[in-house]
Amino acid sequence: MLPAVEPAPDPRTVLRERFGFEAFRPHQEAVCRALVDGHDVLLVMPTGAGKSLCYQLPALVRAQCATGGAALVVSPLIALMEDQVQKLVARGLRAERIHSGRAREDSRAACRAYLEGALDFLFFAPERLAVPGFPELLAKRPPSLIAVDEAHCISHWGHDFRPEYRMLGERLPVLRGASDVPVVALTATATSVVQDDIATLLRLREPVRCIHGFRRHNLALEVVDCPPARRRLLAAKAIADADARPAILYAPTRKEAEEIAREFADEGLAVAAYHAGLPPAERERVQGAFAAGALEVVVATVAFGMGIDKADVRTVVHLALPSSLEAYSQEVGRAGRDGKPARAVLLGSFVDNKMHEFFLERDYPEPKQLRRLFTALDDTPRELDELRGHVRLGEATEKCLEKLWIHGGALVAHDQRITRGRDAWEEPYARQRTHKEEQLARMARFLGDKGCRQLALLAHFGDHDDRGPCGICDFCAPDACRVRSARALSNEEEQWVEAVLDALARGARGGLSAGKLYQASLEGRGVDRRTFDHVLGALARAGRVHLSDEVFRNERGERIAWTRVSAALDDGPARPLSVFVPERDAAPSGRGSGGRAKKRRVDPTWDAAPKALVEGLKRFRLDEAKRRKVPAFQICSDRALLGIASSAPSSRDQLLGVHGVGARFVERYGDAVLALVRRGGGESEEA
Ligand code: ADP
Ligand code: MG
Repeated sequence: MLPAVEPAPDPRTVLRERFGFEAFRPHQEAVCRALVDGHDVLLVMPTGAGKSLCYQLPALVRAQCATGGAALVVSPLIALMEDQVQKLVARGLRAERIHSGRAREDSRAACRAYLEGALDFLFFAPERLAVPGFPELLAKRPPSLIAVDEAHCISHWGHDFRPEYRMLGERLPVLRGASDVPVVALTATATSVVQDDIATLLRLREPVRCIHGFRRHNLALEVVDCPPARRRLLAAKAIADADARPAILYAPTRKEAEEIAREFADEGLAVAAYHAGLPPAERERVQGAFAAGALEVVVATVAFGMGIDKADVRTVVHLALPSSLEAYSQEVGRAGRDGKPARAVLLGSFVDNKMHEFFLERDYPEPKQLRRLFTALDDTPRELDELRGHVRLGEATEKCLEKLWIHGGALVAHDQRITRGRDAWEEPYARQRTHKEEQLARMARFLGDKGCRQLALLAHFGDHDDRGPCGICDFCAPDACRVRSARALSNEEEQWVEAVLDALARGARGGLSAGKLYQASLEGRGVDRRTFDHVLGALARAGRVHLSDEVFRNERGERIAWTRVSAALDDGPARPLSVFVPERDAAPSGRGSGGRAKKRRVDPTWDAAPKALVEGLKRFRLDEAKRRKVPAFQICSDRALLGIASSAPSSRDQLLGVHGVGARFVERYGDAVLALVRRGGGESEEA
């Protein structure tokens, strides 16, 4: 309980008077009460549901009735912080932030204001907690509560894991101090695995779990299984109507984002591309113009979205399968936040997974490769180059080391020499890798016509509020589709339907696998498997059969996935049968983006890059690694280093365009690296 200084104000009054809202949205009030009462909370609600209020309101209530000061808010992105602070200030609340984008002077002033009790909210980035003395400084004044926004970033299983978040578990107790300051973890994207991870890693104390609101009543999901070559056309169809815009198109690569934006611009749309390789000023311009309505369409990579609060996005189109249902759900969640009808069109096919698998293989080498490196290690400190020759893992050596290091299997000393770590790295690494594979498989399964799309997502997120079908997705309302077209069955198809139902009735009571059912019904009639799947989809949509995904691992640990078909209990009125017209390649020669995985970029090689520059960059990287006491690959990867050496960028923008180079690297080292490139890798004169 709180030491009552003043009687606790009524949350509803605070809602009206401080936030100007008439009523709570669903679940907000319950969460606010739990926090006011001092419980830890794990809050999982979709983007736009109003999670911020769930910590902002209780923070004010607690500050008023306890001696507590401001709420501490951990947030991963500068843009996100700036946006939140600005909104709070506009409401007349006292909010400040500390992050790398601000002058040291301003951050210091923010800290002082916090300690003097002159703030209601203080935002900061998680990496601040690593600054010696910072957590202790904050701990001098107990906060009203601690909120960890985008909390899924703490989990390896989450789709944008951030190592900086890992510190939180360790440092939060310092911030909580001796008092019982509640902690609330907020995220829009967490499966049950991630939820458990957040609770454990943040050391939440018997948290109240609130997982709600994933149902989006106004968002129609449409999923089109189609070859890559058809997609630009279908995307154009998806946003052709003025009512279908503003729209966000997610393209799988930067290059495609730019190409598609150009194509659409030629057709007269107000459109721009957005991706992480663009100069910050351009990114800001695009984001601003889209928010202000000057741009109708943004063609973006997944870099676009976090921190965007635009309520009237009418359509989100994916031009390839996202890497997980979590990512998909977050991205489609950006449509229709104003509650008016919106649509998300996913254009994908099984071949997209090939690209994801290619990246998975590259970013998560097989455990046996890591084992090879691990076995080569012992207590004698060794250089990476020495090991490289020894273990013969080629390009993968650095990745293997990084993964081993993350999981404790390798230690990297300040002089960058490597020794063997603990044995227990393999199991968690293998689990993580399997999880990534499973996410890809899940996403691919989503392509099939098996059931209501909303229900599939709700089940995935463990939101079991209600189980009714949405009534608006492509499964529930085929005729309302914007891209897919449904038609009545031909006579021949009617016969196929009968054959399938007959075979099902003859089969086992619990149903059959789709494969067996195919063999027992249409295979003999020369119908191909794809067409059979369309017939099955038609039956499922009409409520005549029930389809479910079954997954298990055999004794060798291999994943076996299949679709179970069972006869539907005949309740409810029969719905008409309709089939979707399949989207196939228009021209057989159609070469599309799906070939990407095979069409591997020819990576620059060490031999071709200018030697002096490579050496200079390596020296620079090593010095920085030693100075910051981190392994060299944390400064920049070999791939990025090689990219810089072979492209010799001459501006920050060009540097940012190098694969593997991020905004953060440019912010930190841009000037030094560009100077180094200008000198061709030689030492600086003044040094
Ligand atoms: P989330 O963090 O869950 O993505 P936000 O907290 O940013 O969502 O809220 C989304 C929008 O909803 C914001 O514009 C916010 O002002 C608004 N909002 C939140 N709660 C309410 C409410 N009770 N009544 C009306 N609008 C609300
Ligand atoms: Mg939020």
